[in-house]
Amino acid sequence: MPKVGVLALQGDFEAHRRALERAGAEAVEVRTAEELNGVEGLVIPGGESSTMLKLIEEMNLLEPLREFGRERPIFGTCAGAILLAREVTNPPQPALGLVDIAVQRNAYGRQLDSRIVRLTPEAPLPPGDLEAVFIRAPIIRRVGEGASVLARYNGDPVLVEHGRHLVSTFHPELTGDPRVHQLFLDKIGK
Ligand code: GLN
Repeated sequence: MPKVGVLALQGDFEAHRRALERAGAEAVEVRTAEELNGVEGLVIPGGESSTMLKLIEEMNLLEPLREFGRERPIFGTCAGAILLAREVTNPPQPALGLVDIAVQRNAYGRQLDSRIVRLTPEAPLPPGDLEAVFIRAPIIRRVGEGASVLARYNGDPVLVEHGRHLVSTFHPELTGDPRVHQLFLDKIGK
C-alpha cells in the first residue's frame, strides 16, 4: 500500500484522506517538512489558495514542497491546482510552478459557485462518465507542451497530467468514484 500524504493546513483534506483510502492507499496528514519526507506522494486539497499559500509560507513549506515535487508525485485539486500552477491570475499570486499551466482563479464567476456535471474522461482514465463537483473553480487558460488534458468541461481543461503530477479544477474526493485518485496512485513508484 503506498503511503500518501494530504497537506492538512486548510481546506477539505479530510475528504481526500477518505478518498485515498477508498482508492487503496494509506493516507496521512502532512503539516511539516518532516512529515512530508515520510510519504511517497502528496495531495494538496481544495480550499482557499491564498490562505493555504499564507500558511505554507508561515510554516516554511514552500521550498520543501518544491523539492518534494521534483521527485515525487503531487495531486492538486482546485485550490491545490492553483498552488501547483506556473502562472496564477485574478489576482496574481505566487505558486509552486511544478505544473505547466496558467490558471485564472474564480473564473466561472457566480454561475458556477457550485455545480455538479458529467465529464467524459480520456485515457489513461478508464472509460465511463465521471461526475465532477465544481466549487468556485479556477479555469485552466493555458496548458504547456509537456502536459496533457485528460478531461474538459465546456471546452476548458479540468483534469491535466504533467509528468508525475496531476491537477483537477473539480473535486473528485467528493464523489464515490475512485478513478481519479487511482490514476494518481498509479504514478507513485514509477
Ligand atoms: N476559489 C478558491 C481559490 O481561488 C478555490 C476553490 C476550491 O478549492 N474549491 O483558491
